[in-house]
Amino acid sequence: MDVIKLTQRLLAFDTVNPPGNETSCAAFLHDLLTAAGFEAQLYPMPDGRTNLVAYIGNGTGKPLAFTGHLDTVPLGNRPWNVSPFAGDIIDGRLYGRGSTDMKAGVAAFVCAAILQVDRLKQGPGTLLLITCGEETGCDGARHLVQSITLPPVAGLIVAEPTLNRPAHGHKGVLWLKATSRGVTAHGSMPERGDNAILKAARFIARLEKFGFDTPAHPVMGRPTVNVGTMHGGLNLNSVPDLAETEIDLRSVPPMQHAKLKTQIEQLAKDDAEITTLLDLPPVWTDPNMTIVKRIGDISAASTRASVAPASVSYFTDAALLQPALQNAPTVILGPGDPALAHQTDEYCVVKNIIQAVEIYRALLNDFAKT
Ligand SMILES: [Zn+2]
Repeated sequence: MDVIKLTQRLLAFDTVNPPGNETSCAAFLHDLLTAAGFEAQLYPMPDGRTNLVAYIGNGTGKPLAFTGHLDTVPLGNRPWNVSPFAGDIIDGRLYGRGSTDMKAGVAAFVCAAILQVDRLKQGPGTLLLITCGEETGCDGARHLVQSITLPPVAGLIVAEPTLNRPAHGHKGVLWLKATSRGVTAHGSMPERGDNAILKAARFIARLEKFGFDTPAHPVMGRPTVNVGTMHGGLNLNSVPDLAETEIDLRSVPPMQHAKLKTQIEQLAKDDAEITTLLDLPPVWTDPNMTIVKRIGDISAASTRASVAPASVSYFTDAALLQPALQNAPTVILGPGDPALAHQTDEYCVVKNIIQAVEIYRALLNDFAKT
C-alpha cells in the first residue's frame, strides 16, 4: 500500500460536484477494500451517485469509524498551472483538485486500515463511511443515514483538512429563503399595487437587529446571520410582486435549528414566507473526554504540535453522521491544509499524507486494544 499512489489514483477520477460522478471512484475503493478482506457495500442514490460503507472486525465491541467524501468543488475561473487530475508532485507537494479536500485524507485512512487489516480482524475493527455529494450540502451523508442504520462506534474521525491537528467541531448551518409576495401595478400608480421589495426590505431591517438568545460558544464564538442574496422586481416601471432573500445563519451548540427557524418566521411576520434550503446542525465534542484526549496525544506524538480545543470554519458530513452514530465522540483530523481547500492549484504536502497514515494506524492500534 502506497498512500501517495492511492491519492494520485483517486485524484485521477474527475469528481467535480456538480455533477459529482463519484460512482466509479467509490467502486474502485469498494474493490480495493473487498480484496483486502473488508465487508464493503455500495449504496447508490436515485440520481446514480454512490456512497460506500466498509467494515472489518470480529463483530464485537465498537469499531473506530472514519469518514471522508469523494466529491470536489469545481476548478474555478482562474486557470490552473498544473493539471487538476494528474497528481503531479512538485517540491514535496501533491497537486490536484481534491488533494487537500479531501482525497488525501480518504487515501490515508483507507491505507492505514488496509495496513492494519490482520489486527483489525481480531477486534472491534473499523468502519469506513465514504460519501458522495458533500460539497453541495452533505447530500450523500443525508441519503446514507436515511437508508441504513449505522452501528454504535467508539468514535468518528473526519479526515477533512486540519494539518493533522485535532479539531472538536464546527458551527451549524441553516440556510433559509424568504419569499415576499405582493401585487403588481404600473410604476406610476404604486398605490394600486403591493410592493414585494418593500416587504423584503422591512424584514431585512428587522433581521439586522436580530439578537440570538444563545451565549457565545467558548471555542466557536457567536452565532451569526448574513443576508447573502436579494432579488426582486422585473422592470423599473412596475410594482414588484416577488422578492426573494437568502439568509445564511451559523449556529453554535446548544442552539436548535427548529427553534431558530420559528424565531425568523416570527420576525418575518406577513412580509415573507420562510423555507429551508440547508439544515446542518453544529458539531461539538468535549475535548476533555478520555477518548478525545487519547486521539490528541496520538496525533501530537506525530505532529509535535500542542493540542488545544479547536474548531474548523467549514461544515462536514459529521453534522449528519454524528447524530446517526448516537453522538459518538467526533474529531476532525486530516492531512490537508484548510487554507488550500477549494483553491486554484490546490495541493497537499506529501509528508503530511504520510504522517496522517502514521496517526491513523496508531489510532487503529490503540482502539484495537479496547
Ligand atoms: Zn471537504
